[in-house]
Amino acid sequence: MIMDKPGNKWSVLDFIRIGYEGMPAASLGGIDVTYKCNLRCRHCYFLKQNYHEELSIEEWIAKFERMKNEGFPFMICGWIGGEPLLRKELIEEGRKYFKSNVVFTNGTIELPYWPDVAFSVSVHGTAKYHSQITGVDAATYQKIKRNADRDDLDVVIAFCVTRLNYMCIDDMLEEWSKTAVKGIVFEFYTPMKGENNELWLNWEERDKVIDHLMSLRKEYGDFIWISDRIYRLMKSDKARQITENCPFPQIGFSFDPMGNPKTPCQLGPLADCSRCGCILPYFSMLLTHRRLLIPEFAVSVTKRALHTVTQHMHRPRPLHLHEA
Ligand code: SF4
Ligand code: SF4
Repeated sequence: MIMDKPGNKWSVLDFIRIGYEGMPAASLGGIDVTYKCNLRCRHCYFLKQNYHEELSIEEWIAKFERMKNEGFPFMICGWIGGEPLLRKELIEEGRKYFKSNVVFTNGTIELPYWPDVAFSVSVHGTAKYHSQITGVDAATYQKIKRNADRDDLDVVIAFCVTRLNYMCIDDMLEEWSKTAVKGIVFEFYTPMKGENNELWLNWEERDKVIDHLMSLRKEYGDFIWISDRIYRLMKSDKARQITENCPFPQIGFSFDPMGNPKTPCQLGPLADCSRCGCILPYFSMLLTHRRLLIPEFAVSVTKRALHTVTQHMHRPRPLHLHEA
């Protein structure tokens, strides 16, 4: 999805260089387009960061020009926020600098026709669950669905798994697999330091959800967007070793709405890395270890070929975390 967009700026030489040398520093990251958002989600880390200002578009362009002179690689950029489509003009200009762009939106605003961009639309459950988490009403949920259901654009759904919504994963797959979206990215909630487990699933529970997602792949194939290889890294026996020395800062960049670097990642210094459920540490692990990266690409190609054969196979039972 990231590297095969129409009109993309990747060359064979880029792939050869990455194959030999690995991903360079600051090759993958995020920019907070705006501090503003039209929703107030219960699990939002961004609003806790309390930003009230943002660089102007001219100031961002001047910053990109300076970065270009300093040799910044301009590879993969996630346009985040806040709600980034409240400020489309910055992405219009800024995306020209990067080889690949992903816009992370809450889907309440119509997606612009940007066929060179990938969209990640946040939908954290079927209508009832998404409403409990984000506060949107039934009509807005349907509007988000219409906005995301675009066969002329590259759209995936981002589902942040929490204690409030894990139980609707099966229904979510059933409902959204009938739309034009390419898949659902199931990640897990990352709490802030000192936060209780009201939203966070403990390790045992998370392992069960991951096992369930991997079993659902028999029916849904790559519509479950994250590979099993990454899900296995996210399980309790491996995850903590990885997040203790999170590889993302080695290859990542993160800028807040004022263009200041954020550490250690887009989630900011309050994030509790020991309970991180974001895909980034595990994806970065693959990108920084060629031994893992090469099989990931090979498996991905093979799985796409097998998808049509496996999608009609036996369907697992819905998930119940606390059943005997
Ligand atoms: S849409 Fe995103 S930025 Fe806005 S409140 Fe929800 S999680 Fe936060
Ligand atoms: S483990 Fe990595 S991605 Fe997760 S919160 Fe920490 S620095 Fe960010």
